Amino acid sequence: ENYHAVLTENRKLFNELQELKGNIRVFCRVRPFLPGQGAPNTVVEYVGEDGELVVTNPTRPGKDGLRKFRFNKVYSPAATQAEVFTDIKPLVRSVLDGFNVCIFAYGQTGSGKTYTMTGPDGASEEDWGVNYRALNDLFKISQSRKGNINYEVGVQMVEIYNEQVLDLLSDDSSQKKYPFWILSTTSQNGLAVPDASMYPVKSTSDVITLMDIGLQNRSVGATAMNERSSRSHSIVTVHVCGKDMKTGSVLYGNLHLVDLAGSERVDRSEVKGDRLREAQHINKSLSSLGDVIFSLASKSSHIPYRNSKLTQLLQSSLGGQAKTLMFVQLNPDAISYSESMSTLKFAERVSGVELGAAKSSK
Ligand code: ADP
Repeated sequence: ENYHAVLTENRKLFNELQELKGNIRVFCRVRPFLPGQGAPNTVVEYVGEDGELVVTNPTRPGKDGLRKFRFNKVYSPAATQAEVFTDIKPLVRSVLDGFNVCIFAYGQTGSGKTYTMTGPDGASEEDWGVNYRALNDLFKISQSRKGNINYEVGVQMVEIYNEQVLDLLSDDSSQKKYPFWILSTTSQNGLAVPDASMYPVKSTSDVITLMDIGLQNRSVGATAMNERSSRSHSIVTVHVCGKDMKTGSVLYGNLHLVDLAGSERVDRSEVKGDRLREAQHINKSLSSLGDVIFSLASKSSHIPYRNSKLTQLLQSSLGGQAKTLMFVQLNPDAISYSESMSTLKFAERVSGVELGAAKSSK
């Protein structure tokens, strides 16, 4: 089997899909009611396999208050972590064929972003979120191709808080900042986070160790863990380098897994000082992300990557040949109605981009 023929064919297929589909796919996930939350009062109704979702305005029961949305996929609250990962597996694996991929979780605090990306606290393997599963899958597939294509897989984890990038894998006690093969080889490929530590992944237990260190460091720097993590973006980046052992050619791909800061609007009249600054930074980076996505879709000649740290870091994985997927997370409760609506409107704009791009390219 000529791997390169397969690769070229794959790439052609992906490019065609890209042309057809635009830059971004949107999967909507509704989290279940949690035990002890009182009587469930849902305003979010999952409609079916075809990606439809209906939201009811709690102050306007009846037909008037209904709003329908459609995305590439909508998950019911019963969807398992494994089901979700199955749907994104091809996207994740395309990194091993040299694609850059970006997967986001967007939504208000408490809507399940971290659950989707990482899993619940102390997750067992069954509860693992996308980060663990993606790393593990990439590492396993890379092992299975060994001999034909030899891969190296490296991981970085950073947090962006108030427009500052913090390295979550640095370990001061042993000053680990491993220079890694990729530092010299990918500068032309647009290395995403040059200043952060990078570790090789060679086993499932490496995956677990890295995630543990990252999660621990995320909480150590925080004054109040939950609060802080909802106001920072966390990014796990997986770098892949594959060498074809027959031809000697080398390919690179990277995967960004992004747990965004909570998208809730903070009432400016009620916050001051640190909280106000945080809120301003979050608003700025989330709206910069939106601006980049919309400019890409409208094929604008200027893409405003430089307006935020987030979009700067992700530049190589947004646009061009890169593939983007956004998990839009919802809290189903009536109390979250207005936040859910603003989340959905953002998501609708983002996924509307897809159709717009397809139309304009015809
Ligand atoms: P966010 O990251 O958006 O602030 P979390 O991921 O922390 O939200 O989720 C809030 C709470 O809901 C957590 O206790 C989490 O374990 C729980 N949760 C979220 N999504 C699910 C789900 N699909 N199934 C079960 N529990 C969930």
